[in-house]
Parts: sequence; structure tokens; C-alpha cells
Amino acid sequence: MERRKVGILGATGMVGQRFIQLLSNHPWFEIAWLAASDRSAGKTYGEACKWKLDTPLPRHIAAMTVEPNVPEGAKGELPKIIFAALDADIARELEPKFAAAGCAVISNSSAFRMVADVPLVVPEVNADHLALLETQQWRKQSGGYIVTNPNCSAIGLVLALKPLEERFGIEGLFVTTMQAVSGAGYPGVASLDILGNVVPFIKNEEEKMQEEVGKLLGSLNGGSIKMLNAKVSAHCNRVAVEDGHTECVSVKFRKKASREEILAAWREFTPLAGQHLPTAPDQPVEFDEAEDRPQPRLDRMRGRGMASTVGRLRECSLLDWKFVVLSHNTIRGAAGAALLNAEVLARTGKLDKLGIAPAAKSERQAVLA
Ligand code: NAP
Repeated sequence: MERRKVGILGATGMVGQRFIQLLSNHPWFEIAWLAASDRSAGKTYGEACKWKLDTPLPRHIAAMTVEPNVPEGAKGELPKIIFAALDADIARELEPKFAAAGCAVISNSSAFRMVADVPLVVPEVNADHLALLETQQWRKQSGGYIVTNPNCSAIGLVLALKPLEERFGIEGLFVTTMQAVSGAGYPGVASLDILGNVVPFIKNEEEKMQEEVGKLLGSLNGGSIKMLNAKVSAHCNRVAVEDGHTECVSVKFRKKASREEILAAWREFTPLAGQHLPTAPDQPVEFDEAEDRPQPRLDRMRGRGMASTVGRLRECSLLDWKFVVLSHNTIRGAAGAALLNAEVLARTGKLDKLGIAPAAKSERQAVLA
């Protein structure tokens, strides 16, 4: 099968590098265009990027030129699938330009996550929300659109919550995160601030977690999302861990749930089984019985970095049950999540014939008929 050409916007950052790593041998997609800031444009990728991953930077990628950050700046043909890994302020300005140019923009940033007609999607949790993209103005005018994946802490959490919400209903949630330094991008938090330390503040993170969980576990209601009817309270902390966000969760259910029923809900949660998506983990939620797991160093690469590991399930004296969740923040929490969204879009035909408005397509088909 011929691989589809893709571009990466923000290719030199922490998430951009993960995109390069995960796309390097991808069976469906091939990197054809890279862009970052004006500081990097015109340099080779090898010159522009401080490669931080533990697999070598592929030589052919190192030799590619970083292009300007606008659609019309592309030297050759601009790929119609753009993975975006930009800070929110920059994403707010640039991503619509690519959607207007007929591209599928698959975004990691928070800029458009809570916009009513923009799908915020984790495929195992709410793939049906992708229908929203058909209501976007860009889609109607150019065929392009924006699809987003959530904040890196929200992703691991909603994977663990979705099967519980389905079976028992969630009434309330209290979560405390211990988030890795790679979550702040590169160079991120100064070493003097984080070594031997915990920083009990990550700007806007608690608000993002609270509202994104509501949208992700909400239901598609015609052309909009009805938010989950549950109270969510988050505490977010930065800790001296390289990769992997750990979260302590207490949850109150609408229906009584036993330990065995909760474990069965996680074990039987395999919503993408049979779809053969290259990035999807076989088991999205893995439960570990050991009393001292999950741990970031030991468990973040489960499911090739795409599984959420859960452990320490026990009764909670304030709410009903409590447990610990761990997930890899730049794989499951960012680039891997966007890649899985792209694979679902490919499977459902939403990456075909981008650059042509669906209305124009049907007019053309009518003329041809
Ligand atoms: P980062 O390491 O700071 O990288 C930022 C990227 O944006 C770099 O490639 C940078 O290019 C580029 N950039 C900066 N200004 C630009 C401009 N004007 N035009 C085009 N590109 C520009 O950040 P990150 O951690 O990869 O995060 C990227 C996004 O993903 C953020 O919205 C973040 O919140 C989100 N996210 C991150 C994580 C995580 O775990 N790190 C997880 C989920 C979501 P230069 O090298 O040229 O400056």
C-alpha cells in the first residue's frame, strides 16, 4: 500500500520529535514536510533540532530542510495531513491556516480542544465525536478540519475511567497528578527548580483536566457534545521524572461497584479490537496487581507507550474507590494519541480527498454521473 504523505508542524520540540520517532517506520504514513519557528526554518532538521530521544534520529530526516510555518511556504506539494505540536498561542494562529488550506490538522495543543465543533478525541473513549468535524466551516469550504487530542494527564485518566463510566456511572472524581518534566517541552522547567523538588503548580493544567474529562466522557448529541454530569477536582504537580505522568484517583460512582466488577471492566475494555490500527495497544488499560505499581520507569512503555497502567485499587473512605494511573506523556499523552486519531480518520475515509470541500465533491460526482 502506498503510504500517505504527512507533515509535522512544531517538528523540533518534544512532541515533534516523538512524531518523527513514531512515524519513522509507520506502515500508512510517510514524513514529507517539516516546519517549526522562523529560528529553525531554512536549516536542516539535524541542525535545527536538539534530538532528545533514545533512538537515533533517522538520517534522511536529519537531512530534510525545515520549511516555513505557513501552507504557502511549502517548497513542494504541501501534505494534506498535518500533525501539529505547537504551543497554544501559536497553534491558535497557525492551525486554522492549514485547515483553511484543505489540510486535516491533527493537533496536540489546547487552543481548539474546547471549541464546540472541534472533536476532542481518544479513539478508545469517544471516536464517535469525530462526526463533529463535518460541521466545521473549514470542512465545508476546503475539505480541511481540526481534530484534537487531550492534555497528557487527561488521556491516561479517561482511558481508565471510560469503562467505569459505562458500567457504574461517575458522579465525582478527585485526582492528584505527578507529571514528568518532558511534559513541559524543551528546555522546559529549569533544573534548579525541579531537581530534588516538587512544583505544585502547572499553569492552566487543573482547569484543562477538569473541563477536558467532561468533554471526553460526554455524549454526542446531534451536532454538539453534552458534557459528563460529574464533579471533577484536579491537583497538578511537576515532579523530577523524565517521562510518564502518575495520577492518584478517587472516584464516586452512581451505582455500587465491587472490586471484581471494576477489574472486569478494565480487563474487558478493548473497544478497538479487530480494527488493526498500527498504533493501538491490544489492551488500553492494564491492571498490575503488585502493591507498589505502576511506576513511571517500569511501566510507561507498556503497550509500546500506548497503554494506561492502573494499580493499587482499594476502597476510599471519602469517595467509593481509589487507584493509581500511569501513562507515557509524550507517546500516549501526545504524539501517539494524535497518530491513533489519524489512523481512525484513515480507516473511516476522512483522510481521503482532502483539499476539496465535500459539497464540491458531491457536485462533481453529480456532474460525472
Ligand atoms: P516544545 O518542546 O516547546 O516544542 C515547541 C515546538 O513549536 C518547537 O518545534 C518550536 O520550534 C515550535 N515553534 C515555536 N514557535 C513557533 C512558530 N511561531 N511557528 C512554528 N513553530 C513554532 O513543546 P512540546 O512539549 O513539544 O509541546 C507542543 C504542544 O503539545 C504544546 O501545545 C503542548 O501543550 C502539547 N502537549 C505536550 C505534551 C508533552 O508531554 N510534552 C503532551 C501533550 C500535549 P523551534 O525549535 O524552531 O523553536
